[in-house]
Amino acid sequence: MSVEFKKYVNIRFYGNLNDFLPAGQKQKDQRVGFWGTPTVKDLVEALGVPHVEVFLILVDGLPVKFSFRPAQGSLVSCYPKFSSITISDIALRPDFEIPPRFVLDVHLGRLAAYLRFCGIDTLYDKSYTDNNILEIAQADGRIILTRDKGILRNGKARYGYYLRNTKPQLQLSEVVDYFNLTNFFDPFSRCSLCNGEVVQVEKSKVENQVPQTTYQVYNEFFKCTRCGQIYWEGPHFNRITAMLNRYPR
Ligand SMILES: [Zn+2]
Repeated sequence: MSVEFKKYVNIRFYGNLNDFLPAGQKQKDQRVGFWGTPTVKDLVEALGVPHVEVFLILVDGLPVKFSFRPAQGSLVSCYPKFSSITISDIALRPDFEIPPRFVLDVHLGRLAAYLRFCGIDTLYDKSYTDNNILEIAQADGRIILTRDKGILRNGKARYGYYLRNTKPQLQLSEVVDYFNLTNFFDPFSRCSLCNGEVVQVEKSKVENQVPQTTYQVYNEFFKCTRCGQIYWEGPHFNRITAMLNRYPR
């Protein structure tokens, strides 16, 4: 027996918000039936689109908040983040702080290391719970990056982005594009292990902390001011540099 809804709205998604819709449903009006008086946030998320990626909602042509309750038969238009125009007067949230800072969910260790190599402030810890991530993001104005739509649907989540790709290098490209991160690149200024600041140290100070052959081959050494990790411009450095050079600045 199919359920007959008394009321419905038509919802249309623009741009990359269509990524969340099944093939065949993209770029089309979605008819959503409902009972009672749900908020527009509930109706949008019922279709699998996390509210944190929606930056503007028009109901019958007028901007509304997430708490708005659309009437039967309304046309709801949902827009993603705009890269080239400012809509601050009617946007659902102010722009995130510049430079963007992130907190990542526990499955994104490689992406966390890549973002830190780029010099982007990135908190990540394998022991974080979903609640930890939401609290850190809220307290510190950080943007949540995740492959878990559940975190992004939480009402506490304000800024966030759902990664479409599963491969870390492709995830890095997505995040760099979406948040225009090349403007904030400062390669090798952060520790890939702990997000601490990395500074150059005198060669003589690391003599007992690196393998003897490394000490003989390299002249410049760097150290994390937080965890003490020593870095030098070895093969790993060259691989990362090649990766970062894919992003023209
Ligand atoms: Zn460190």
